[in-house]
Amino acid sequence: MKLVIASNNKGKIREYRELFAPLGYEVMSQSEAGLTLEVEETGTTFAENSALKARAAYEQLGCAVLADDSGLAVEALGGEPGVYSARYGGLDTDEARCRYLLEKMKDVPKDKRRAYFICTVHFIDENGRETAAEGRVYGEIGYEPRGGNGFGYDPVFMRDGKSFAEIGAEEKNAVSHRKNALDELMKKLTEK
Ligand code: IMP
Repeated sequence: MKLVIASNNKGKIREYRELFAPLGYEVMSQSEAGLTLEVEETGTTFAENSALKARAAYEQLGCAVLADDSGLAVEALGGEPGVYSARYGGLDTDEARCRYLLEKMKDVPKDKRRAYFICTVHFIDENGRETAAEGRVYGEIGYEPRGGNGFGYDPVFMRDGKSFAEIGAEEKNAVSHRKNALDELMKKLTEK
């Protein structure tokens, strides 16, 4: 059975391929499947956005599909940047968005800098049955960008004294929001 991931991110596709192989799915990326998604992420929550993308993909292809959405939520900023993580402050680069966030946080004391990365996944099987799951990882916003690995807000997201850009991919993938969302999804799918 074919499972199309509504993404072309190689790292994500590899992770999904490994997870879904035991369930009998052959995982393909959006471009391998010829899927042209032009969904505007108009949802006000991550869950709505991943559901919107998955339903659009299912409508187009009629086979099993999976879409995800992710971002950062900072408690002292009322959950910002949230669903606007990829376009926070209207800025174009990860580096500029990290700087913008640090500026907003400059007067926030250490004990109020809690934040989490969140990932939602929305799976629709070949019969149209939908399963959604969510994962989070908690940490705090640092005071300066640190480390050269990762992407997005990793340099300013601190956990156990290190930023997500200072640890390796393997260490991050073992605790990440995406890993937690996929664990939850797998649990739901194998319980059904
Ligand atoms: P998307 O789900 O791939 O669209 O990601 C949305 C945005 O959230 C990205 O552009 C990043 O800014 C941020 N983001 C999501 N996951 C991570 C992560 O693991 N590290 C750092 N930033 C992330």
